[in-house]
Amino acid sequence: MENKKTRTFQTETKKMLDIMIHSIYTHKEIFLRELISNSADALNKIRFESLSNEEIKLEDELEINIYLDKKNRTITIEDNGIGMSESEVIENIGTVAKSGSEKFVKALENKNDALEIIGQFGVGFYSSFMVANEVEIFTKRINDESVYWHSEGMDDYTIEQCDKEKNGTKIILHLREGEEFDELLDTYKIENLVKTHSNYISFPIKMDVEKQVPDEDSEDEYKMITVIEKKVLNSMIPIWRKAKNEITEEEYYEFYKNKFHEFTNPLEVIHTKVEGMVSYNAMLFIPSKPAFNFLMSNEKDGVDLYSKQIFIMKNVDNLLPEYLSFVKGIVDSPDFNLNISREVLQKDRLIKTIGKNLEKKILKALSSKLEKEREEYELWWSEFGIAIKNGIYQNPDKKDKLVDLLLFHSNKSGEKLVSLKEYVENMKDDQDKIYYVVTMDKERAMNLPQLEKIQDSDYEVLFFTDPVDEFMVNFLNEYDGKKLSSLNKSDESDNSEDTKEIKEENSDLLDALKENLDNKIDEIAISTKLKNTAVCLVTDSLGISLHTEELLKKMQDMPMNSKKILEINPNHEVFEKLKKEFEENGNSEMIKEYSEILLNQALIMEGLEIENPTKFANQISKLMTK
Ligand code: ADP
Repeated sequence: MENKKTRTFQTETKKMLDIMIHSIYTHKEIFLRELISNSADALNKIRFESLSNEEIKLEDELEINIYLDKKNRTITIEDNGIGMSESEVIENIGTVAKSGSEKFVKALENKNDALEIIGQFGVGFYSSFMVANEVEIFTKRINDESVYWHSEGMDDYTIEQCDKEKNGTKIILHLREGEEFDELLDTYKIENLVKTHSNYISFPIKMDVEKQVPDEDSEDEYKMITVIEKKVLNSMIPIWRKAKNEITEEEYYEFYKNKFHEFTNPLEVIHTKVEGMVSYNAMLFIPSKPAFNFLMSNEKDGVDLYSKQIFIMKNVDNLLPEYLSFVKGIVDSPDFNLNISREVLQKDRLIKTIGKNLEKKILKALSSKLEKEREEYELWWSEFGIAIKNGIYQNPDKKDKLVDLLLFHSNKSGEKLVSLKEYVENMKDDQDKIYYVVTMDKERAMNLPQLEKIQDSDYEVLFFTDPVDEFMVNFLNEYDGKKLSSLNKSDESDNSEDTKEIKEENSDLLDALKENLDNKIDEIAISTKLKNTAVCLVTDSLGISLHTEELLKKMQDMPMNSKKILEINPNHEVFEKLKKEFEENGNSEMIKEYSEILLNQALIMEGLEIENPTKFANQISKLMTK
C-alpha cells in the first residue's frame, strides 16, 4: 500500500462535525437516507457517463447494498456507482465545499439553532458522525486507483491507497455505544427507514433479511427454519410515474420532504401527466415556507429533469420563469435527450412548451388556493408574495395573469389582507381611484397625515410596505379601469377651483416659504389631503416615494432623487397664523423659523431623519414657553 497521509479537516468541516457529534438531534436516522441518496447520485452518474463513454461497460446491475454486523457494531453501505478518485475524496469528503454542507454552514452563521437547521439541509455524508464514532470509506473511480479514507470525526482523517477491485464506494460506519444506536443494527428498523425515506430511489437497495421457510429436510411439514435472503427493500417506482389515485397525501409529502430536505408540508402539490405532441410527467411542489436562500442565491433546489426515470439535470433554470424559482419538483419526459447540455436547454422548444404549461398550472393552483383556502393562502402570501410582485416587475407582460394573486394590507383590512378585486368591489359610489400609500409598515401607514381626509370619505387605502411594491405599481398603473393613485405623491388632478384660488391668493407667502427652505424642498403646494395636520411631505407624480428613495439610499444602489413637495393644509390654524404674520411683517424671522419647523415635522411623520434634532427640540420648547 502506498504511504498513508494524515490530513486535517478544514475549519468549517470541523465546525460541522462538532455539531453532528454533540447534537442531541432526534432524527439521527437521517444519516441513512443521506448516504443512500449519495449512492443513488453516484449510480446515476455512472449510468449517465456510460451512455457517452464506451469504455464504461455496465456489466452488473446498478445497486445499493446494506450490510449489518451486530457483532462488530457496523453498518455498511455499498454502491457500484461512479466512485471517487483520491483528489475527489479530498475535495468532496474532507471539505465543506459541496452544495448541502456549504449551505448548512452558511445558515449556521446566521442562526444559532443548529438542531433546527440540520433537518432542513441535506448535510449529507457528515451526518454519519451522528451515529458513528469511526467511519471508513473504500472507493474506486473507474480506471483509477482505489482509495481508503478513515476518520474518527475529530480533527483529521487519513487517506491511503487500497485494493478495492470494482468501481464504487463502500462506507463502513462503526456505531456509537448506546441503546439508541443498537436499534440501527436491526433489519426491521433499517427496512423501515429505507421504506419511509428512500422508497422511490430508482435503484434497488438490497439487504440480507431473515426469512422463515418450511424445512424441507424435516418430516414435520410445519417445521420452519430461518434462511437468509437478499431482499430489495424499496419499491423503486418513482412516485411521479404512479397514478394520482394510487398516491396518498402522506406519500406526496414524504417524497417532497426527502427529496428537497424540507421540514414542512408544501402548500400545494401539482401532479400532472400529459400525453400528445409533448409527453411528460410532472410533480411540482409549492413550498409553504421559504428556503433560507429564497430570493438570494442561484444555487437552490428547483425543478429536476428526468427522462424515463433517468436523472438528467438538477434545477433546470429556464423551465420556469425566474419569479417561480421557489417551486420545486421534477419533470420526466421521454422526449428529453439524455445528453442535453444546459446551453442547449436554454433554447429547447420542448422545455419552453412544458414550462409554459406548468407556469399556467402553478398560477391556477395559487388562485384556487386564494379563493378556497384564504387563510392558508394569506400565510403563504406573507412569505412568498414578494416573488409574485417580482414577477410583475420582471415580466410586465404577465401582469394580467398575476395581478389577481396580489394581496395588501389596508386601512380597513385589519389583520387580514385585501385583493384588488375586493378593493374595487368595496369602492364607494363617488370613488374613482384605487388609493395606496408607500410606507415602512402598517402601523406607520395608519398614522400618516395623508390618510386623514380620505378616511373621512370612508375610502380604502392600500398599504405598500414591500420595497418592490412601488416599482411594481409602475407597471400596473390601473386595475379594472381604475387608476392606482399614490398618497405619497402630489396629484394635480385633485386640485379643485378652491385650491387654485387659495394658491393664487397666497402666492407670495408660498414663495417665501419655499425660499426659506431652499435646497431642501423643490416645491410648496396647497394640500387637498390633510385635515388635522398642518403639513406633509410628498414627491411629484413622476418620481418615487420618499420611503423608497430612502431605502435605495441605504442600499447604496442607484440613489434616486425625487422632487420633494411640502404640502400645507390651508384649513389649519398654523396656515392662518402664517398668513397673518406675513401680512404684517413679511418674511420675518418667525416665518423663517416656522418654515423650518414645518418641514421637520413633515420629515418626522414620514419616518425620515431631520438635519438637527437638537435645534428642532429647542425650537419646540421655545414655542411651548411662549
Ligand atoms: P452532497 O451530497 O450534498 O453534495 P455530501 O457531503 O453528502 O454532500 O457528499 C459530498 C460529495 O461527495 C458528493 O457531492 C459526491 O461528489 C461525493 N460522494 C459522496 N458519497 C459518494 C458516493 N457514494 N459515491 C461517489 N461520490 C460520493
